Amino acid sequence: MTDEIKASFTCPNCGPISIRVEDETNDDSAVTCASCGVRFGTWGEVKAKVTDAAAAEVRARLRGAFSGLKGWKIT
Ligand SMILES: [Zn+2]
Repeated sequence: MTDEIKASFTCPNCGPISIRVEDETNDDSAVTCASCGVRFGTWGEVKAKVTDAAAAEVRARLRGAFSGLKGWKIT
């Protein structure tokens, strides 16, 4: 899921970025840009956004991966 999380964030300073979450992550942990350190919010806030975005991305990839295979259908 790491790629989906990366794709879901745009840093005002760095553009599309990877995020950094503290090792002992809980919903109150700070989420920061891995490059410049700007703070995006708490993990609880970010997780709610990432979950929706990642789920949509995974569904889109599955459709693309199977669309070229005759006889396969995503249900
Ligand atoms: Zn940044």
